[in-house]
Amino acid sequence: MTLSTAEVLRGAGLRVTAGRVALLETVREGDHLGVEAITAGVRDRVGHVSLQAVYEALHALTAAGLVRRIEPAGSPALFERRVGDNHHHLVCRSCGAVADVDCAVGEAPCLTASDDHGFSVDEAEVVYWGLCPRCSVSDSS
Ligand SMILES: [Zn+2]
Ligand SMILES: [Zn+2]
Repeated sequence: MTLSTAEVLRGAGLRVTAGRVALLETVREGDHLGVEAITAGVRDRVGHVSLQAVYEALHALTAAGLVRRIEPAGSPALFERRVGDNHHHLVCRSCGAVADVDCAVGEAPCLTASDDHGFSVDEAEVVYWGLCPRCSVSDSS
């Protein structure tokens, strides 16, 4: 049985509000959405919410580990529901398309730095930059 969105929020110790439920569902159905797209999705579901409220909810959900925030260089922050697996991202330099990619070798090998300088590492962020199929086609024509 899959948990309802409200149960997921409650399970993470968060207060359940219509706005947070709508936000989590928007992020889950989307694919690395920016704040504007998330705000539009939340408004579709529950009517008007302020941008400030969306930022606050995103912050709470990210802090609770329900949503992951990625921020490729030069791109606005993007949010996704796939958390906890330390997966990586392919980012198109031309159109900004983002795709998920699993860790190259089994389980989060990137967590083992060749020299951790005494840091206790819990996350590695890898971004593969290039051109998405659509952009490489239009590039070569
Ligand atoms: Zn592209
Ligand atoms: Zn992702």
